[in-house]
Amino acid sequence: MPNRASQRKKQQAIYRRRRIVVFGGGFLALILIITLAVAAWKWISKPIGESGSSQENSQSSSQETLSGESSSADSSSEDTSSDSSSEQEPSSQEEPSSSEPSSSKTQSTSPSQANAQSSDWKLILVNAKNPLPESFKVDLVTISGQYKFDSRAADALRQMLADAKAAGQPMVLRSTYRTRARSEELYNNKVQEYINSGYSKENAKVEAAKWIAPPGTSEHHTGLAVDLVSEEYNADNWDLLHEFENYKGFTWLKENCTKYGFILRYPKDKQNVTNITYEPWHYRYVGKEAAEYITSHGLCLEEYLEQIS
Ligand SMILES: [Zn+2]
Repeated sequence: MPNRASQRKKQQAIYRRRRIVVFGGGFLALILIITLAVAAWKWISKPIGESGSSQENSQSSSQETLSGESSSADSSSEDTSSDSSSEQEPSSQEEPSSSEPSSSKTQSTSPSQANAQSSDWKLILVNAKNPLPESFKVDLVTISGQYKFDSRAADALRQMLADAKAAGQPMVLRSTYRTRARSEELYNNKVQEYINSGYSKENAKVEAAKWIAPPGTSEHHTGLAVDLVSEEYNADNWDLLHEFENYKGFTWLKENCTKYGFILRYPKDKQNVTNITYEPWHYRYVGKEAAEYITSHGLCLEEYLEQIS
């Protein structure tokens, strides 16, 4: 009897081991099947990812074509050589410089906000998402030297400059109307800087756009935007820097620009909406009524257009 009992026990142990082996084997086989399924799915979905990146490529190459076209259109109609030789363009912080974090916030901006447009010429919205149509035409008049402005807003700018001077804060113009060709030149120079420092062409374009608005997307094309600083600041600095906000000339502009129909276009607290870094030197003509509303309600142009649309 003890023998039979021990034999049964042995038999039971063998069965138990077999069950473990069978169960373990099945489990391993299941893992193998899952692994193969995942690998197969990855392999199948791979071409989708590639087509995604080729879309990006085709987008940027179409931008390239666009800027090329605008360049030839501009160079035939504009004298850009005088523009580039005399317009004071500092190497950094000059034009729309959207930073990495703010560009990631672009995606959170609602499409309606980005696309809100007004039929009022004074309220035209030009930014990375709203490039100026190729057909855009503006009647320009000279403010001083080579600095040109929309003829309908020129008197407002002249008056603001005259009153600033009378108030003891004479201003220096640094940029007004800018051709697409001029923007392209500034942008391409920046792209080349990045390529020279080891970036691929595609990455260089992305980096350059953080500093210089690509052709067609600069508000300066409208003839309604002006970069200006006080003579006092200009004597101390060549580049356009945030330090301008510490000068009395900036205080005067901030307190008085709306009286002439101008707004501080890229405020410090709206960088996540405009996607352009704070520019205390860049003012935009929108007309007195809009300027007063925008400023008193603490808005930026994008938000105002969203409200009135
Ligand atoms: Zn500007």
